[in-house]
Formats: sequence, C-alpha cells, structure tokens
Amino acid sequence: MKRFSFLALVAAALASSALATPSGTTVIVNGTAIDPGSGKVIPNAVISIEGDHITAIKEGGAEIPKKGDQVIDARGKFILPGYIDTHVHFFQSGGLFTRPDAVDLTSVRPYRDEVAMIKKNLPDTFKRYLRCGITSVLDIGGPMWNFEMRKIANSTALAPRVAAAGPLISSVSRPQLDLGDPPIVKIDTPEQGREMVRKLAAQKPDYIKIWYIVPVAPKPGEGGSSTASISPSASPAPGQSDVERAAIFRPIVHAVVEESHKLKLRVAVHATELEAARASAEEGADLLVHSVTDKLVDEAFVKLLKEKGTILTPTLVVFERYGRTFAHKLELTPEEKAWGNPEVISTLDVTKLPPDKIPERISKAIANPVPVLDNIKKTYDIALKNLKTLEDAGITIATGTDAGNIGTIHGPAIFREFQLMREAGLTPMQILKCTTANAAKTFGGETGPKIGALKPGNFADLVILKSNPVDDIAHASDIESVMKNGVLYPADSILK
Ligand SMILES: [Zn+2]
Repeated sequence: MKRFSFLALVAAALASSALATPSGTTVIVNGTAIDPGSGKVIPNAVISIEGDHITAIKEGGAEIPKKGDQVIDARGKFILPGYIDTHVHFFQSGGLFTRPDAVDLTSVRPYRDEVAMIKKNLPDTFKRYLRCGITSVLDIGGPMWNFEMRKIANSTALAPRVAAAGPLISSVSRPQLDLGDPPIVKIDTPEQGREMVRKLAAQKPDYIKIWYIVPVAPKPGEGGSSTASISPSASPAPGQSDVERAAIFRPIVHAVVEESHKLKLRVAVHATELEAARASAEEGADLLVHSVTDKLVDEAFVKLLKEKGTILTPTLVVFERYGRTFAHKLELTPEEKAWGNPEVISTLDVTKLPPDKIPERISKAIANPVPVLDNIKKTYDIALKNLKTLEDAGITIATGTDAGNIGTIHGPAIFREFQLMREAGLTPMQILKCTTANAAKTFGGETGPKIGALKPGNFADLVILKSNPVDDIAHASDIESVMKNGVLYPADSILK
C-alpha cells in the first residue's frame, strides 16, 4: 500500500479544510439567475440557501431577507449552476512528461517522479477547477488510486465533487505507464473483461471505462497476423474494412457492458472512429467520451444514440493539444495562462528540452509544423460538424476536456472547449446546458440529480459571473465568485 502513502499525506494536509456545511440561511439577491437546463432566465432573483443546498428561487426584489440571514448582493451579476467537466484524468498533470507512451522523455524526468508530483499536487489541481467555476468533474479513467483520489476530493472543501472510473479496459497495452498500478489494462478475452469488471465493482466505480482502439489496417504485403485465429485480440489483416477491424475488440466490449450492467454499473467508451462508436452504442455503452473524428456521422448513428439514450462528450480541446505542444505551436488561452498550474505549463515549452534528448516525434514536428496543424484542422472539420449534427438532433451532449493530457490544462481547458463548441455552431445557452444540466446526467447515484440546475433541493454549487454568458460564451470565464456546498469563495482568493 506504499503507493497510497502520498495520498495519505495529502489527505492529512487537507483535513483542516475538510468539508464544512455553513449554518444559517444565505440569500443571494438582485442578480440574474440563469438555469441553462430549463432555459429560464430570472432577473432580480432571490436565491435562498440553507446549509449545503438551495431551498428556494424566486423572482422579485420585494423579497426581504430575514434578520440574521447572510445577504449576498449580486446586482449586475449572473448566477448559474457550477460548471461540470465530464472528462478529466487526475493521474495526468497536463505537462510534457505525463504520457511516456506518447513521447518517451523519461530520461529527462522519470515517470515515477512525474506521478509523485501529480499526487502531491492534487490539492492544487482541485482548487484550479473551483477557480474556473467547475464544481463537479468526472474522472473517466486512471489507476486504482483514482478511487482514493475521489474519496479525498469528496471530503475537501476546495475541490470539485468527483466521480471516477478505474483503469481503462483496453485492446492495447501501455507498459510505459505501469508502475505497479497501471491506468490502462490490456484485456484479451471476454472472460478477462468480465473478471476485470467484477474486480473494479468492489471499488464502487462511477463508470467502467473502455479504451476502444481500432487497429489501423496494414498496407497490402505488410502482413498482419493470420486471421485464422478467432482470438479477439487478433491483428487486422490487409484489406479489412472499418467494420471488420472494429469487430476485433467487440466481443470484449459486449462482455464488459453486459457484466457492468448486470452489476448496475455504467459504461463509458473512448471510441473516435465511427464504427467503434457505433459498435459501442449498439452494445449499450452509456457514455461516449469523444467526438467521432474519422468520418461524418450518418443518420443511422444519430438514430441509434437517440434510441439508446447514449450521452456523448465531444471532448474537442484535447485533439489540438498534443500536436500543438509537440510542434511548439501551443496557444494557451489567457484563462489557461492565469489559472493553470505554472509548473505544469512551464514543461510544455519543448524548446527547453536538452537538445540531445528531444524525441523524433517532437523534433520532426518543430521542424515542420504544417502537417501537424493540417491534421488538427482535418480532425476539427469532422468533429465540429458531428457535434452540430448531434446537438441539432437532440442527442444529450455533455461538456468535457480530457484535461490532464499533454497540453490540456486542468481547470481552464474548459474555456477553450467552449470556444470550440461555439465554432461548431452551438449557442451560448446550448453550451451552458451541455456544461450543467446535461453534464449532471453523466453523474449517477445521489449526486447526479442534485447538481447542474438551479432548483430547490440541489447542492448550492454556483458560479457568479460579472458579465452575461448568454450574450457571449467568452463571459463564462468572467467569474466573480464560486459557491461550493453553500460556501462562497471570491474567485481571486481561491488560488492564493
Ligand atoms: Zn480521456
């Protein structure tokens, strides 16, 4: 249990800020309340809060707070449910050394040191979410210590509410990330998949996560393994279609979803290819955590998600961040520069690497960034169109960032995600709904029904803005203060 010792220290350090519920009544007056789920905008709102939850929301300034109530004057301000990021990974820092399977820089910083830093920094990472108005997050996959992380977050005042999945059930292995508690586990047979689900169930995960990587077709003459084998981990053969290659891992997806649902656990799938996403939805996946990026979605796919009630998180920002980081073309937003962890951000400058230690993937990208940027553009041409199609069709879209991946900054990455959703053609109100009411649907258990909306009985998790986000989604980061669990924090005080 050595690996938990760091987290035990973190927990002890946080004990002084343990979750407190304020006593008495707080009343927020004179502001404009915006509830994106219902589309309601209430001018001159009176929001009453008792302890950790909302007790009433009324229109009309005539309401006079009772003597002894704590009154917050929100004149000229806009009050929304706290934002929810439904796709993050706390086992990754967002820095350059966090995915040695993507670029091996372990000779510059050993992965063990990176993981130790990530665990030590957890309280800081949690705070950065709150600073950005994000009061709940879904960590959709990491090592087994993710469950310890969830426990710490959920007993910490200056942290978002956290739901979590454990290790990713995958068609590929990532030995570079395995320090004894791997975040990604290769599963070769349906029975192994079922066993893994049963093992994870003991931790009461919020999701079982599948990493559905479709192998690329080898070029003719390049071989591939003999297809006589019926092993689901068989390699693709030349000439196989997308459907055939997606079918290789499908028996495991089938088994994992079936076993999870039997145990009343929901399943989230990473599937960026249309045929893998389609197969996942057909098998009953509850949540798709990325946009489809290889093809435009077709009518049958849209109909399938609608019929199955599958939720989709487009997770757009991450698609540009690996490439842009490696090509030295990372353009972090002002929010990321201001509220991201500066230590993490400083690692992202690839020109600071010792010249003899720069891996080929990075040196090539620096020398010629054009193909990298072209690739990103191609991906967005498809992903953004697909988002608009699904939104227009009434599919439940939940906002997410994949924060923690290289270049995707924990906390403020959500504001870049908003820009991309806007580029896709979503209105500010639609984006806000994806980030509150829709995102809340990805949370199960007791938390889901109590977040993401301004309504009596819900947790008093709020963001108070200085300008109207319905006019311009850029205003969503114009944060004056954040309320979590009924406690108000001036935004500027959170990272101090
Ligand atoms: Zn992810």
